[in-house]
Amino acid sequence: MIRKRLLGRTGFEATEIGLGGIPMIRSSFDKAVKIVHRALDLGVNFLDTARNYRDSEAKMGAVMRTRRDECFLATKSSAGTKEAALAELAVSLKELQTDKLDLWQLHDVSTPRRYEEVMAPGGALEAAKQARDEGKCDFIGVTSHSVPVLEQAIESGEFDTIMCVYNLAIGDTGDRVMPLAKERNVGVAVMKPLSGGIFFRMAREGAADTITPEAAWNFVLMNPNVDVALAGARWLKDIEQAVHCSRRFAALTGDEIREHTTRARALGEDVCRDCRYCESCPEEIPIPAMMQIADRGRAFPYEWPKYREEYAGLRPHADVCTECGVCEESCPFDLPIMERLRHLHERLTRPM
Ligand code: SF4
Ligand code: SF4
Repeated sequence: MIRKRLLGRTGFEATEIGLGGIPMIRSSFDKAVKIVHRALDLGVNFLDTARNYRDSEAKMGAVMRTRRDECFLATKSSAGTKEAALAELAVSLKELQTDKLDLWQLHDVSTPRRYEEVMAPGGALEAAKQARDEGKCDFIGVTSHSVPVLEQAIESGEFDTIMCVYNLAIGDTGDRVMPLAKERNVGVAVMKPLSGGIFFRMAREGAADTITPEAAWNFVLMNPNVDVALAGARWLKDIEQAVHCSRRFAALTGDEIREHTTRARALGEDVCRDCRYCESCPEEIPIPAMMQIADRGRAFPYEWPKYREEYAGLRPHADVCTECGVCEESCPFDLPIMERLRHLHERLTRPM
């Protein structure tokens, strides 16, 4: 059994582990379907995806066709206007093979400008309210990477749930946003509990000083203001590991929290989370893969030589960047992508 937590005013008893839909965009269709089945078989009852996670909705939809009543199903729209959002909703329902969502969220409302756009007359919030009135969703949520925007959204009283980042490297939402949400009976879903998996990608490579999945999950799950934390799963073992960590939960001690957060934050809060929002580079530079090499290089400088080969295998190289800025505009973490790619290329192509 996975422990359950009340998802705010929705009244839904969510398993503390939910299935997140981003990483499965890199799984084959069949593999992703197996992951969704496995999550449900393990008792996970909260599934979250988004219209702009490529074929993630279709992959979940292939399972929802027969198992819709086993979960609380959430998706998101990045549209700004009512009209565009309603058009996205129609596609989401079709892809997810259902006629009703449990939760429809306004996606990545992370700047004051975007918040104003979705909240304005004719904005996406109106679409969500219409969808709720028409029985196409039960609840309305908002997802954001911005603490001030999340606070504003909670205070507005319009949202039943929020979704925010919370992990060993980024804890400010735990201090400010989640307590406010709890006070207002707004459900709290947490994305990127493993910081996009950066600790473990390093661990897999045998780097020292890494943080275990157990420690990262224990940190998130020990916060009583977290209602559900999303495990992104590209492989079956990702969801199995998350459920295992929930079942074996043990609160971290004060010393462990200090040790792990110090280590995680030493990586910098500005690490790439592999969210892949920057994949629309007109030059087709594989930005997420390169950004993660750059992160590892910063965290473990003695490993630089080993990254040469990895970088050499990525095409095209970062020197074709035209500095158009598209990637930085789409990065929700405001990472200095152009500068980092420039530095990475210089470092990994200069003669040793
Ligand atoms: S700035 Fe460079 S890396 Fe970023 S999208 Fe433009 S060409 Fe691609
Ligand atoms: S660089 Fe930014 S947008 Fe791109 S994958 Fe990393 S965190 Fe996401």
